[in-house]
Amino acid sequence: MNPSTLDELLLAHAAGRLPLPVDLLVASHLTLRPESRPAHAVFEQLGGALLEEIDPEPLDPKAFERLRDRLDRETGPEEAPAPPVEPSAGAPALPAPLLAYVPEGIGGLRWRRYGRIAEAVLDLGSPGFTTRLVRAEPGAALFRHTHEGLEATLVLEGAYRDGTGRYGPGDIELADGAVDHRPTAEPDAPCLCLTVTSAPLRLTGRFLRFLNPFVRL
Ligand code: ZN
Repeated sequence: MNPSTLDELLLAHAAGRLPLPVDLLVASHLTLRPESRPAHAVFEQLGGALLEEIDPEPLDPKAFERLRDRLDRETGPEEAPAPPVEPSAGAPALPAPLLAYVPEGIGGLRWRRYGRIAEAVLDLGSPGFTTRLVRAEPGAALFRHTHEGLEATLVLEGAYRDGTGRYGPGDIELADGAVDHRPTAEPDAPCLCLTVTSAPLRLTGRFLRFLNPFVRL
């Protein structure tokens, strides 16, 4: 995810403008990636006012550069405590904000398996959004797809690649109808992600697209 897009997401989070599932995703990112916290802290101070100022216009990347400069001067690098993790041994750790909604840990969820991919839907009571944990075995690939709405993905463990790059722990990928991809877990470890979608995915593989009327992802 490029820095200006991440900054925009952090700013929207700091200003309390995100729907719950995306808010949770960004809060989990902040737990996993301490280096994002100083920017977020400044956005919390300035966020509301800044967002009101810039809302009608496209975001000015220079505004973020100036904020970053100010941030570097004022706060310097932050030593952050290690993120709280799920205590059970062997199970993937969930960041604390997410664990608050999954108190029994990932073992307590209802998982559905599709070959080497498994998913569990989280009920966050947020109409219009679907929130899932998706776990891919090493090297496993999702169906190629594009998006009818927005898709935000946060890597919790392991890493995956698609045509846009590589995403490791704490990384966020934002995708929409302009992105057609086939996320594939790295071959050396399973990959666990939190994904939020605002509309169904649309399969785009050569044969799979004929299944679209029958498949709701
Ligand atoms: Zn996608």
